[in-house]
Amino acid sequence: MWLRLDDHEAAFLAELLNRELKEQLHVDDEGKGKLQTIFDRLNEPPDSDTAAFAAAVDTNDELEVDSDTVISRSDDGAFVMAWVYVTNAEAGVEPEEDASCENCGGTDNDGSDICTDCGGAITS
Ligand SMILES: [Zn+2]
Repeated sequence: MWLRLDDHEAAFLAELLNRELKEQLHVDDEGKGKLQTIFDRLNEPPDSDTAAFAAAVDTNDELEVDSDTVISRSDDGAFVMAWVYVTNAEAGVEPEEDASCENCGGTDNDGSDICTDCGGAITS
C-alpha cells in the first residue's frame, strides 16, 4: 500500500510515532520494533536523483508523474511511480454518479459535504 502524506501530515505522524517509541504507552517490544521501522521509513530522505528521473518521463494526457514521486533505483536506471489514466470503458466499470444535494438535487458544489445553495448534505 502506498499512502500519500503532505509534509505536515508526515511530520505529525512522525511526532506521534516518536512519542510512542519514547514513552511506549501502548505497545510492547514487538510493537515498538514495528513502529521504529515505520518511523525510519517516514524519515527516510528521497533519493537525490528523484527529480531528474521524474523529469525524464515522457508525460502526456494519459501518463503523469508527480514532482514528489517515488523512485526505485537499479544499476542502470530507476522505476518512477506514475499515474496512468484508464477510462471506465477500458476498466469495464460504470461511471460514478456525481455527488448531489439530498434536499435540492443541486450538483454544483465546492467539493465540501454541504450544499452551497441550500445547506443540505451532499451525498453520492
Ligand atoms: Zn441543496
